[in-house]
Amino acid sequence: MIDPLYALYAVFSVLFGLVLGSFWNVCIARWPEDRSVIHPRSQCPSCGTMVEARDNVPVVSWLLLGRKCRTCGWPIPATYPLTEVLGGLLGFLVFRRFVPTPFDLDPAHLAAAALYFVFVGALVIGSFVDIRHRILPDEVTIYAIPVGVLGCALLEVLGYTGWMAVGWRQAVVGALLGGVFFGGMALAALFVSGREALGWGDVKLLAMIGSFLGAHPAIVAVTMMASITGSVVGIGMTIWHQRRVYLPFGPNLALWALVYLLYGDELMKRFLPALFVWLPGP
Ligand SMILES: [Zn+2]
Repeated sequence: MIDPLYALYAVFSVLFGLVLGSFWNVCIARWPEDRSVIHPRSQCPSCGTMVEARDNVPVVSWLLLGRKCRTCGWPIPATYPLTEVLGGLLGFLVFRRFVPTPFDLDPAHLAAAALYFVFVGALVIGSFVDIRHRILPDEVTIYAIPVGVLGCALLEVLGYTGWMAVGWRQAVVGALLGGVFFGGMALAALFVSGREALGWGDVKLLAMIGSFLGAHPAIVAVTMMASITGSVVGIGMTIWHQRRVYLPFGPNLALWALVYLLYGDELMKRFLPALFVWLPGP
C-alpha cells in the first residue's frame, strides 16, 4: 500500500525537478556569457522574443509548439526538453534517496533533499557548460561552496541524521581537501611537466563537491573513480583517433559525484571490499 501523502510528495518532486530543469537550461545558456539568469525573462535565442508563460511549460510547450519558436520558427533543440526531463528524473531520485519512507516526511529530510537537489543542479549545469565551452562557471563551483557548508550546518541544526549527514566540519574539510590538496597536485604537475594536467575549474569543482559530500570517503572515492574512467576513455579515444585527445574532466567528476550521492553507500559496501581485499581487515 502506497502512502498517499508520500505519493503526493513524490509527484511534486518530479514536477519541481521539471521546472528546475527548465531553469538549468537558462543557466547553461547564460552563465558562460556572464549574463543574469533572472533578468530578462526567457527569450528565444534566435529572434529575442520574450517567451510567454504558456510557451514556457517544461516539455509540454516544446511538443505543443511543434519544436519551433512561436514567433520566428527557430527549431528549439531537443536538449531543452531533455534537460527538463533529466531534472524531473533527478528530482525523483534525490527525493527517494533523502526521503526513503513515509516516516521520513519531516522538515530535516525534506531540507536534505532540497539542499542536495541544488548540488545536483550545479553538477548538471557545470557538465553541460564544460562540454560546450570547456569552462566551468564560478556560479557552480566557488560560489556554491558556502551553500554546501551552510547547508550542511543547517541540516545539523535540524537534527538530520540520514544519508549524507556530513555536518559542517566535514563539509569544510571536504572543500579544503578538494581545493587545497588537488590544487597543490595541479601546481606540482604544472611545475614538473610544464603543462596543466588538471584545470583550475576542475580543482574548484572538486572543492565544491567536497563542501557538499564531505572529505572521507566521498571526495577520495569520486576522484579515484573519475581518474580511472577518465584515463581509460582518454587513452581509448587517443588510440582510436591516433592523436592526443583532451577530454573535459569536469563532467567526469560530476558524474561520479552524482553516482556517489545516489548510490554511494551501496557501491562502497559492494565494490570497495573487493578492491581492497588484500588489505588486512579492521
Ligand atoms: Zn524566435
